[in-house]
Amino acid sequence: MSKIVLVIAAHPDDEAIGCGGTIARHINEGDAVYALFMTNGVDARQRTFSRDAEIRNEAAEAAKDALGVKEYFYNDFPDNQLDNVALLDIIQSIEKVISKLQPQVVYTHHNGDLNIDHRRTHEAVMTACRPQPDFCVREIYAFEVLSATEWNTPSFQPFTPNHFVDITPYIEIKMNGIEAYSLEMRNTPHSRSKEHLEAIAKHRGNSVGFCAAEAFMVVRCLRGC
Ligand SMILES: [Zn+2]
Repeated sequence: MSKIVLVIAAHPDDEAIGCGGTIARHINEGDAVYALFMTNGVDARQRTFSRDAEIRNEAAEAAKDALGVKEYFYNDFPDNQLDNVALLDIIQSIEKVISKLQPQVVYTHHNGDLNIDHRRTHEAVMTACRPQPDFCVREIYAFEVLSATEWNTPSFQPFTPNHFVDITPYIEIKMNGIEAYSLEMRNTPHSRSKEHLEAIAKHRGNSVGFCAAEAFMVVRCLRGC
């Protein structure tokens, strides 16, 4: 049976970096994929230059088309300042989209990321997805975003994946999604380089016997009768 999948990310580009190949695989398997972003990803200091926000939105829409996602939903919370937004407001913005789409599967950030928006998004998702009776969301997975997941202080929860998705046939689609965000990418050697993204896909794949994979931590997986 086809599923409804919702990616809940802090910034446009996190979806392509964290689970672009898995998104493409879901779509190929007949699932409908949507994404919700908390901020437009434009630095607070640049917000007066609305063209920056426009460019980021255009990139997001290009990534949406490259990945085959049905629709992107955008919140307009301040970038890199989600800790200054009332948690309840973030939760309610997520609940609104969940109520509309009724997804069974959610992908979101790892709660040990360096980026405060990522951690805050994870926290809000956990509250918005409380496993109450008959709640639609049955599976929650946390993805890794290079330059945020591996850059935090060692005392934070490390990313220790226990769910791997073979994206070997979908790596090209993932990289096309990344290409849409070329302004956010950096030249190698850098954590946020195309070369590193290809390397991590190979690493995650080879770790478990695939050519290329995306890795996740299972946050919750419910199987009812
Ligand atoms: Zn991000």
